[in-house]
Amino acid sequence: MPANFKAELVACFGQPVAENPTGAMQEAAFQALGLNWRYLTIEVPPARLREAILGMRAFGMQGGNFTIPHKVAVMEHLDEIAPDARIIGAVNTVRRDGDRLIGENTDGKGFLRAVRNDAGIDPKGRRVVVLGAGGAARAVVTELALAGAEDVLVVNRSAERGERMVADLAARTGARIRFERWMGEYRVPDGIDIFVNATSIGLYPDTSMPAVALEAARPGMLVADVVFNPPETRLLRAARKLGLPVLDGLAMLVYQGVIGFESWTGHKPPERVMMNALRAALAV
Ligand code: NDP
Repeated sequence: MPANFKAELVACFGQPVAENPTGAMQEAAFQALGLNWRYLTIEVPPARLREAILGMRAFGMQGGNFTIPHKVAVMEHLDEIAPDARIIGAVNTVRRDGDRLIGENTDGKGFLRAVRNDAGIDPKGRRVVVLGAGGAARAVVTELALAGAEDVLVVNRSAERGERMVADLAARTGARIRFERWMGEYRVPDGIDIFVNATSIGLYPDTSMPAVALEAARPGMLVADVVFNPPETRLLRAARKLGLPVLDGLAMLVYQGVIGFESWTGHKPPERVMMNALRAALAV
């Protein structure tokens, strides 16, 4: 076989981006499979996003991740946007198909995969409550709706933001999605199958507990948190104490990376290696 010293490149573009741990997980996966691939973590200001994507094309990069503040702005520079990413209105992963760059959103897909694989629950026909109406909530609600959840209730502090998101996603997915304003303590009612914290409450360094009461929840209700730092949030600790099954934000983060890895390399991702590398990088 002729020598091949050319590495394949993927990257994460964001600002600030230095503390983004995704590279550690992807690099560990490339090494585990003996692939001559590199994952670069690159700081790009918003004004240079267009040039960064031209650079991606010029270098023949295989794809990458786009994080804050580029998740929406990147869309206009791509050749195609996957249908669910279009509904969500944001792209966090780009893959290459020939000369075309395709925008995907793997945040909600990573969450769904975690619910199915790690919690063993199929969201089809389930009743769900999602706290929050930001970017993470939008991705989670979209994928739950597309996966056939029977009823999705969005609970958010800002009524305007919550109502706008619910009206938009209900119209775009055709699913039953409702809104309730979050005031005081939210008591999760009986009959809910999955409860998700998709707000940033609990995120380091302000590791507080969202104002929710879980006592009335039915036994077996899954309590999921998108916050991954720390993975064991106060919400998940409270759920565990009540004997409820839990799913942490690390699982979602790893699976969105797993989906990206698979779409870039075409190889089966070494999931365990990726999870361990992420834990080591975050020191959790
Ligand atoms: P946004 O800023 O877009 O949204 C934040 C949400 O949290 C809003 O609904 C906001 O409510 C709510 N919120 C924040 N603080 C409070 C508070 N004190 N009281 C009530 N509500 C509050 O953030 P994102 O959606 O982008 O991110 C949310 C979290 O998801 C972050 O912790 C992020 O790290 C995590 N995440 C995890 C991923 C993973 O793979 N595990 C992937 C992507 C994100 P309001 O509208 O009223 O302001």
